[in-house]
Amino acid sequence: MANSKEKTFRKLKRQYTWVSIVVFVISFLLLIAVVNAAVIFFTLYTIDSKIDDEYKIVEHMANIYEESLDVAKEDYREILQKAGTRYLVKDGSGNIIATQGRNTCSDVGGHTGFLFGKRPYVVYEDTEDNHLVYGSNGWVSLNLNLLGWTENEITVDAEEHPNPSTDEDKVLASGYVEMPIWIGTELSNGDTFIAMGHIRIRLSVIVILAIIMICLNAFLLVYMIVRIIRIVKGLRRRKQLTELFLVDEVTKGNNWMAFLLKGEQILKKRKNADKRYAVLHIVIVKYRNYCMCHSLEEGQRLLYAISQTIDQNMTPKEELSAHVSSSSFALLMEADSDDSVRQRFDQLLQGLSRTDTHDEQPLMAGHTEKGHTFRFQAGVQIIEPHIIDGKPQKRRIPELERYYNNAVAAKATLEETDDSGIAFFDNRLLEDERWVDLVEECQQKALDNEEYVVYYQPKYSPDEGKLVGAEALIRWQSPDFGFVPPGKFIPIFEKNGFITAIDHYMICHVAADQKKWLDAGMKCVPVSVNVSRAHFAEIDLADQIRNMVDEVGTPHELIEIELTESAFFDDKEALIWTIEHLKKYGFSVSMDDFGSGYSSLNSLKDMNLDVLKLDAEFFRGEADTERKEAVVSEAIRLAKRLNMRIVAEGVEEKEQVEFLDSQGCDMIQGYYFAKPMPKDEFVERMIEVYHMPEES
Ligand code: C2E
Ligand code: MG
Ligand code: MG
Repeated sequence: MANSKEKTFRKLKRQYTWVSIVVFVISFLLLIAVVNAAVIFFTLYTIDSKIDDEYKIVEHMANIYEESLDVAKEDYREILQKAGTRYLVKDGSGNIIATQGRNTCSDVGGHTGFLFGKRPYVVYEDTEDNHLVYGSNGWVSLNLNLLGWTENEITVDAEEHPNPSTDEDKVLASGYVEMPIWIGTELSNGDTFIAMGHIRIRLSVIVILAIIMICLNAFLLVYMIVRIIRIVKGLRRRKQLTELFLVDEVTKGNNWMAFLLKGEQILKKRKNADKRYAVLHIVIVKYRNYCMCHSLEEGQRLLYAISQTIDQNMTPKEELSAHVSSSSFALLMEADSDDSVRQRFDQLLQGLSRTDTHDEQPLMAGHTEKGHTFRFQAGVQIIEPHIIDGKPQKRRIPELERYYNNAVAAKATLEETDDSGIAFFDNRLLEDERWVDLVEECQQKALDNEEYVVYYQPKYSPDEGKLVGAEALIRWQSPDFGFVPPGKFIPIFEKNGFITAIDHYMICHVAADQKKWLDAGMKCVPVSVNVSRAHFAEIDLADQIRNMVDEVGTPHELIEIELTESAFFDDKEALIWTIEHLKKYGFSVSMDDFGSGYSSLNSLKDMNLDVLKLDAEFFRGEADTERKEAVVSEAIRLAKRLNMRIVAEGVEEKEQVEFLDSQGCDMIQGYYFAKPMPKDEFVERMIEVYHMPEES
């Protein structure tokens, strides 16, 4: 099978998996995480830069503090005011001894780590609002121990310092959020100076950031959900498409495409390299008749039941079956030997004979309740392992389609019978197919180049042994293939329709020969020309023949038209019409190969024919001469009664001639007198008999 088909199949299989959804979800969640991390990073980065700013302030305060060490104790407020901030002063025991602004500190401090911060800070909880820390401009905590002061030494006059709470409210009202943090900085004497810094962030910025985060996440989530829904729908649709692509509508099993795809996969497996396989083409004989007698639905139920039975006879995963077309199935099965394939086919037939349709109707290989008999014919192509140096090689490109076509060709050899049977493909069939191709390629060129040659087989009277007529028989003198007898190409032309061109060609050439001989002063005998049944579909056939002969100018009575017996099964009305017109125009009409297979007695009743040609089969073989003679003599009597002349074909023995003579047979065409011969030889024979001057 074409690589592209296999690729499509692989692709379909790959896409036909839920893993793709999982992969999508994971990658999308990762994307969401990355986006969120980016926003958080940005936020923390901003906070961190603000902390840096605060740190600088604290550093500044620490400088002031260091300066204050040399200042008189009473001036501490001055120092603190110099810091330009609110403050909180604690004594050595941690008691607050002085504040500037409202103190909401819990006094429960603790170290905390800040993700992107530079160092740990002491953080106090806010007791009033449960915020982590509360404040506007920053509380400063000065450890009095550090300052070297004691409680007694300090007098606090809080009244001197206005409560800044109104400022804080203002700040909050104006849309900021403040986050106090304790910041410590190292002094030159190794001590730590701790002060409360504040990170102020606009409320609107936080709100915008929050909205962005919420929207972004919501958008990504909605997008992800929508995508997942679409993927699931897509997968479902793809699954349905795959089914359409690979599942047979009637049997719900494999179709032709699935057979090729899966079959080639089985054949390609390394572990199957040493196995011998058989590809079978199984056909239900006269399935169409069954459908016409019953109904299409019943026909389809039959196919379903057959498919089920076949599947039961196959090894799952290792073997394969498929419904290919209305009446045919394809099978790929392991085959140890030809006999094992035959056995499996017989088993299958037995299985089929027990198969039921959906209800009580029994089927197959025998009579059903409705009296229908089913027969199955199979063509087989064996696939041998490919061995190199004693080792079986992996089948890289198994041409399953070609193998199946070979199986079809093998089955075609059974077509002459309607019985169940099995036929194996061999290379002769392949040669036949090649020959058909070659012939079809050359047929027109051969006609144009006049490679088809007319041979004449004389007809003799049995009593005197006198030449009284002849049959024109075609031969192909091919520059490529040499001398080709009609049996090798006429059936091909009959199938492909080229036979009508051949029939025209022969009539024209025979008429032309006759005319030439007449013009040369010879006495001519009537010559019969074979006209194929395919030709009788043309309603103006009689006129066509008359025109062709008239164009040359040959008298009509010198031309006889032979119709094969099987032609009498086609459109009877058309046939009668053509025969009547041919006769009206003065041509003789004969029935060729009478008794060769189909009973055409009925046709004799309806059609006013001139000549009956007894088939050569009557004169072949040894068996029961007496019975044969009885049939022949009755056929002659019948022809006589119908005012027909009788020609016996294929007569090779003297005794046969004598017998036919005794029965009143009019003419004999057979090897006993002469084989088909080239034109010149035939002319010589005519001259011998009629003592006419030689053709000029
Ligand atoms: P047919 O029309 O029945 O021709 C008689 C065949 O029997 C000829 O075979 C002839 O050679 C053969 N025959 C005659 N007497 C004897 C005999 O005593 N012994 C044996 N063994 N054979 C004998 P041929 O020429 O091979 O033709 C075979 C068939 O091909 C013809 O059967 C006819 O159906 C077809 N055919 C031949 N030429 C033409 C043609 O020009 N047009 C058409 N449509 N079919 C033709
Ligand atoms: Mg004939
Ligand atoms: Mg014949």
